[in-house]
Amino acid sequence: MLQQQELQSNFIDKYIAQKKNRPRGPAPHYTPYTTCTHKSPRAPFHILQMPYPGSKAVLKIGNKWITARTKKHLYNASQGPKLRAYIQRRHDLTDAQYNSVNWHTIGAVRRRSDLSKQRFTCKLMHGLLPVNHVRQHVTSISQCPGCPCGDETIAHLFKCPNSRMVSKRDEIIAALRKKGLRKLSRKILCTVAEIMEQYSEGEEIKPTTKHPDVLRAVHAQGELGSWEDFFRGYLVKEWKAAFHATHNSDADMQFDQFQQMMWFDIAWPQWMERNQVAKGSGSNADQLENEMLTRQLVWYHKHKDELLPIHQRDMARLQLHQVVRLRPATRRSWLNHLKVATKAWDRQKHTVSRDQRTMLDYITNPGPPRPPPRPRNIAREARDHADRVVLRLEPNQQRIDNVLDPVE
Ligand SMILES: [Zn+2]
Repeated sequence: MLQQQELQSNFIDKYIAQKKNRPRGPAPHYTPYTTCTHKSPRAPFHILQMPYPGSKAVLKIGNKWITARTKKHLYNASQGPKLRAYIQRRHDLTDAQYNSVNWHTIGAVRRRSDLSKQRFTCKLMHGLLPVNHVRQHVTSISQCPGCPCGDETIAHLFKCPNSRMVSKRDEIIAALRKKGLRKLSRKILCTVAEIMEQYSEGEEIKPTTKHPDVLRAVHAQGELGSWEDFFRGYLVKEWKAAFHATHNSDADMQFDQFQQMMWFDIAWPQWMERNQVAKGSGSNADQLENEMLTRQLVWYHKHKDELLPIHQRDMARLQLHQVVRLRPATRRSWLNHLKVATKAWDRQKHTVSRDQRTMLDYITNPGPPRPPPRPRNIAREARDHADRVVLRLEPNQQRIDNVLDPVE
């Protein structure tokens, strides 16, 4: 007991000593009037020189004084470099390539979009759209659902030769060439339409325009890497100069619309069409599912006597010629009911106690036939009966059947 008290007091002394030695106030790198060079985490801290005497500014990141929206700037300063390094590593971009992309517009358009569009743009930009190339680690299938191509990547989405995809692409290109629909430079819209056509055909990207600024933008976009990045929404800053030179409205506003158009008017409709081809009515997956449902319903019809109780066998009455006339949704729900009934019947069969028979079983399966009754022997029956009858016997009293003649 004494030893325990000693230990406790030692612990308290230690705790107090630690508390006393701890420096007061927040950690040095959080104090507002200090800064560090960011070159090394161990670089010495020094007192900030204020921008002018009497200034109330409290935060400086790099060479920039921050006087408003400090939370955003702190977040960008801490997370920005990590995000940049991640994007460069993921997409194999050099510093020059990374700096050529107009990230400002990408951020602005994404911030204004709703959640579903933000998800779509994020997946599109980082190659996470669930095309079969991405899902193959789950399904082991990378085959394009619309054509014989064995590896459906995001790049393939923009050049798939499936007839529905081609007609959707033609529709988009026709809309780009239609006059007066957008407040965007027509030269650039026509160039984008040409790029779409040439990319989908697998040709070299060579727009017919002679405008030097547009040609410079196309060249800079080509320098970024593959043209797939263009359809994913990585647009280079040179497009802004091209907008400025070819249209009289604000270039920033045009770039904003251009970014939206690339994502929501070009990539999004093609992605939706691909999903229709992959999963919509008439798709291969749809046909396969219909076949599977038909097979299962016919199987239930064949085995209904073993699987279902007599009062539910009517559920499995459908034969092949009746099943093929059903809509897929009806087939699916019919099969679901059959599965539920079979499971319930199985459970019921296993919950009866040993050797107990259900009423239904008794009625439908009465068991082995009984042996025919023995021919009656009246004399023996009478004798047996007399043996069983207990009478009050007096000593030396004879039984009545011994007195009378036995009946033969
Ligand atoms: Zn395809």
